[in-house]
Amino acid sequence: MDLPVDEWKSYIFQKWSLLPKSIQDTISTADTLKDIFLHSSSLLQPEDETFLKSLASGYLVGKDPNAPPFYREEGNKKFQKKDYVGATVLYSKGISHARPHTADISLCYANRSAALFYMDEYEMCLKDITRAQMHGYPESLQPKVTLRKVECLVTLGRLQEAGQTIRDLESNFAAKPTVAAAQFQILQRNLCRLKMKVQERERLTATFPTTLTKIFEDMDLREVNEQIPCASSSVSLCMDPLRGRYLIATEDILPGELLVKEDAFVSVLNPGERPPLHQGLASKWDTRVTNGDLYCHRCLTHTLAMVPCDGCSYAKYCSHECMQQAWGLYHNRECPLGGLLLTLGIFCHVALRATLLARFEGASKVIRKLSSEISNKDMCSPESETPVHTLRSDLGGESEENGNIVQTPVPGCDVNGKYENNYNAVFHLLPHTEHHSPEYKFLCALSVSALCRQLEAADSSKPDAAAPPILCSELSTWGVAMLKHMLQLQCNAQAITTIQQTALSGSEENNVTNSRQVRLATGIFPVVSLLNHSCSPNTSMSFVSTVATVRASEKIAKGQEILHCYGPHHSRMAVADRQQKLRAQYFFDCSCPVCQKEKHRATVGPRWEAFCCGRCGALLQGGDVLSCGSTSCMESVSRDHLISRVQDLQRQVGGAQKLLGNGQLEQAIQLLLGCRHDAESFLSPEHSVVGEMEDALAQAYAALGDWQKSAAHLQKSLQVVEAQHGPSSVEMGHELFKLAQLFFNGFAIPEALNTIERAEKVLLVHYGPCSDEIQELQKMKSCLLDSPPI
Ligand SMILES: [Zn+2]
Ligand SMILES: [Zn+2]
Ligand SMILES: [Zn+2]
Ligand SMILES: [Zn+2]
Repeated sequence: MDLPVDEWKSYIFQKWSLLPKSIQDTISTADTLKDIFLHSSSLLQPEDETFLKSLASGYLVGKDPNAPPFYREEGNKKFQKKDYVGATVLYSKGISHARPHTADISLCYANRSAALFYMDEYEMCLKDITRAQMHGYPESLQPKVTLRKVECLVTLGRLQEAGQTIRDLESNFAAKPTVAAAQFQILQRNLCRLKMKVQERERLTATFPTTLTKIFEDMDLREVNEQIPCASSSVSLCMDPLRGRYLIATEDILPGELLVKEDAFVSVLNPGERPPLHQGLASKWDTRVTNGDLYCHRCLTHTLAMVPCDGCSYAKYCSHECMQQAWGLYHNRECPLGGLLLTLGIFCHVALRATLLARFEGASKVIRKLSSEISNKDMCSPESETPVHTLRSDLGGESEENGNIVQTPVPGCDVNGKYENNYNAVFHLLPHTEHHSPEYKFLCALSVSALCRQLEAADSSKPDAAAPPILCSELSTWGVAMLKHMLQLQCNAQAITTIQQTALSGSEENNVTNSRQVRLATGIFPVVSLLNHSCSPNTSMSFVSTVATVRASEKIAKGQEILHCYGPHHSRMAVADRQQKLRAQYFFDCSCPVCQKEKHRATVGPRWEAFCCGRCGALLQGGDVLSCGSTSCMESVSRDHLISRVQDLQRQVGGAQKLLGNGQLEQAIQLLLGCRHDAESFLSPEHSVVGEMEDALAQAYAALGDWQKSAAHLQKSLQVVEAQHGPSSVEMGHELFKLAQLFFNGFAIPEALNTIERAEKVLLVHYGPCSDEIQELQKMKSCLLDSPPI
């Protein structure tokens, strides 16, 4: 996903392997990124570009006029089955392929408005009705959507508008007696009903005060940091040779305190599961739901009412405004390149978009400066000290102000020492040029080079294009900048995630959900990039749209470093795996306290992987042969044997989860109870597999509506989560949230209130007071407190 597709990767790697040794050496030993780029791109042949184009043409990214009727038909099928979400997504796919101002697009919008109506999404429904009418919705069908519009307006309490729409419709009838008599009668009846509804609502609103105002306001940084405007005043930017740039606490920080709130400088939506290349005609139109069907291409907002780009089918937005903004900022250049960008991967796409955005900061100065700076050989200055993780710049601390080069202490800062979310800061993130393999650099350079040539070709094909041709004149400079971004991304790409709530199988009606973190996009956040890694971090990161927030997850004392986990967390990965991952991707050896501690006691595994004695239940200890920890017991057993038993159990649990998915609840429960019985004889009660079983059992009982049993099992799964991730971890917060939903549904008021409070306490620290989860918990609480005693 991040890197180019395998076909292109292996093509380039083979091309590399066939290069004469002398040329390989020239590229491998090149001092500067510019040299790497120029040498590599001179080797890009027309047949390479032809091959790349053939790969790119495998993606359906343009408009296909035959697709809208297909998707509308498929959407109608879902609609009939009352799967309104599924229907909406398919109508959206149809819309994205339809040309503006055609019957196809207006019909799809109108159908989508109906699906949205049934999901109680009245505002969105209204917008879609307007869109349908704007694109030429057939006159004969107008009354149908107009009545829907009135229903929405009434429900939303916009009674004057509703009244006016009814009057307009009536006078329209009067003017056109051609409407068939039967149809006219139905309409009359509907109008009557709606009029009554309007009057009723008018009476109600007269006696009731306005609705409650939003309880929570968006929490913001307590006090803005003068030096780093995206950070709180309780942190400070430091730099030393060992750690590079980093943030420390300038005062004691409490759990949950907001430390950084930063909008991505650049972000690119992760397209989600890719359709296989060159698929047959039969499955040409994909009906699968991907990120691109649910999240805005620009701001990543979740929406079911997408508005597509007029020129392509792959860029879809939450609103017309987002579409126009994206067009002005970057999409006017990207629009015709959809297939190529999907082939070359997200890193290449982010690199392109970063340079396109840089135009608006007058940062072309920075990029032009690149060519002079890189010839000074400081582009790839080797790291002399042990590479503890560092995002330190390789360019020295220079910045340009009024044409003068001024030395500033910290790279990426401006002349006043301010570090901002801007292109200058992005430009100074480390590319680690010397750590990447020559093949990888060759792949990146050729990919960028091919992209530049396509942009150039697109420019020359429309000489009077509104956008200034930025790349023609300075192609190699921009190419070098993009290459630098591509190399930076391996260490500095930040995954933008969201929490997706999925209803537990069989319990869609009952509002019990599983939370799952999904990756939405890849972005660059220059301030977040200042944070160094720890396998046991003291912060927690979450996202709303493209904005990252970093909160303290525990108390941080004055003078301590602010640390964030790059992925390998100690509660999810063994020390050896973490070390290996960090070395391969980030080029450093982790020496965080957890790593140091765990390296010295490698034989005792964590509790969530521990085995128990089958005879007495005490923990087993040892290496290949485990023996009972109890002195009075002589039991011993081989590790391989136990591991194969665990694997067998895991297979069975997987089978049970499948049964659950198919709604075969009783069979799933029988299987799981058998597994649990088995597990008791050799696994610790806090083993992660035991947690999975208890969680699956909780799901099964929830689906049966047996809240009590479900809650009992979930509480056991909670113990495992607590042992593995800690009592105040975000994982614990999600489990508590689920448990609160169970108690709520079972109307166990004291238990529900108690669990809501626990969940709130944990989730507030990670997500802050405005998150969806906290709002949901608040709603449950007030509902429980308002409910009459039984
Ligand atoms: Zn948007
Ligand atoms: Zn487009
Ligand atoms: Zn570590
Ligand atoms: Zn024993």
